[in-house]
Amino acid sequence: MREANKQTLGGQEKRTARDALYQELGLSRPVIEYGRQVEADLRERFEGIDEIAEYNQLKVLRAMQKHRVCAEHFAASTGYGYNDDGRETLEAVYAETFHAEAALVRSQMICGTQALYLALSANLLPGDELFSPVGKPYDTLEEVIGIRPSMGSLAEYGVTYAQADLLPDGSFDYEAIRAAIGPCTKLATIQRSKGYASRPTLSVARIGELIAFLKKCKPDLICMVDNCYGEFVEEQEPSDVGADLVVGSLIKNPGGGLAPCGGYIVGREDLVERCARRLSSPGLGKEVGANLGVNRDLYQGFFLAPTVTAGALKGAVFAANLYERLGYRVIPGGSESRHDIIQAVELNTPEALCAFCEGIQAAAPVDSYVTPVPWDMPGYDSQVIMAAGAFVQGSSIELSADGPLRAPYTAFFQGGLTWQHAKLGILMSLQKLAERGIVKLG
Ligand SMILES: *Cc1c(COP(=O)(O)O)cnc(C)c1O
Repeated sequence: MREANKQTLGGQEKRTARDALYQELGLSRPVIEYGRQVEADLRERFEGIDEIAEYNQLKVLRAMQKHRVCAEHFAASTGYGYNDDGRETLEAVYAETFHAEAALVRSQMICGTQALYLALSANLLPGDELFSPVGKPYDTLEEVIGIRPSMGSLAEYGVTYAQADLLPDGSFDYEAIRAAIGPCTKLATIQRSKGYASRPTLSVARIGELIAFLKKCKPDLICMVDNCYGEFVEEQEPSDVGADLVVGSLIKNPGGGLAPCGGYIVGREDLVERCARRLSSPGLGKEVGANLGVNRDLYQGFFLAPTVTAGALKGAVFAANLYERLGYRVIPGGSESRHDIIQAVELNTPEALCAFCEGIQAAAPVDSYVTPVPWDMPGYDSQVIMAAGAFVQGSSIELSADGPLRAPYTAFFQGGLTWQHAKLGILMSLQKLAERGIVKLG
């Protein structure tokens, strides 16, 4: 920092002007100064994140060049959407980037849950068993699978479900996994991100080890990875380490903040084809599906996704270090390696959780003047507070936070289309905690 200031004439004045703007936005001097101290120690971490982003940016660029992306691909198609060159090329670009045989990238997939449901329902038939070797899957999949009885669930269609939990230290329970795999086990679903659970997020390398073991137990077992929040966090994706199907949401990392909705499935040609037939219909498959004019956003969002993900990742690392230094339990820890963009901060009291979320909301580009309040959300057993001031509704690659109002009052924090915005949001959360006397600085 000192070096840079020496080289830039008037560096000190710039900093003063910046601080004045921070103060205008609502930060106090001690909060600005505290943030500066935390950030100063993160230079190496940030360099590592930038290096991964650089690699992933080149990976995406090479895929776009190889498939000769051109302006015509951004044109809208309507009706059946036959001969939609833009849609087909985008899918080729996704497949290339993920080193997969095929891809289905569609705005007709409403969200991540639907993409996962599609991949499961397309590849599991009555009598087949679905298996999770990494414990209970993401909340919204409980009704999809039928863990919680639900109309239209896979259970209703005669697909059974088995699960092996992780061991207390977070490692795979290989014995239980081997025992759970039987003649009917057709597909293993592996969730990369911890979601709202407290287990660690899986690295791509660990996913690779797990898949190798699963294939040893049963060579024709389909291995699917729920890749939500994991895209571009590492240089490798699960499809690089043996996953047959990789699934995610376009309003998280790969949409780069520009995709207005959608989901993706990449993987083995035959399995992706089954998904396409389930989405449209047998006989139509991938050949139909009008893009209705969203193609340019999907292309440009994918192009931006590596650096957008890097910004979100810096925000997560900054939040972890800032709150860890203040004595809060953070998951992952400040110096732990990262495999997704989610940061959990245990805030210990409902007041602190609400103050944190108010800060995130107050820093938003949209709806910054709104105060988030806890509410009874369908499907949850306690009230939930959510902060989101997003351009795209529910987009969680944009800066957002939420948490259930129960001990230990954990805020799950993610996103930020730019590192600078993520930083402001985190400092604003600290500001709200300081204003209420929950945190004392200096
Ligand atoms: C977000 C997410 C999903 C899907 O959620 P949607 O809100 O339907 O997009 C599934 N699994 C994990 C781990 C997620 O983070």
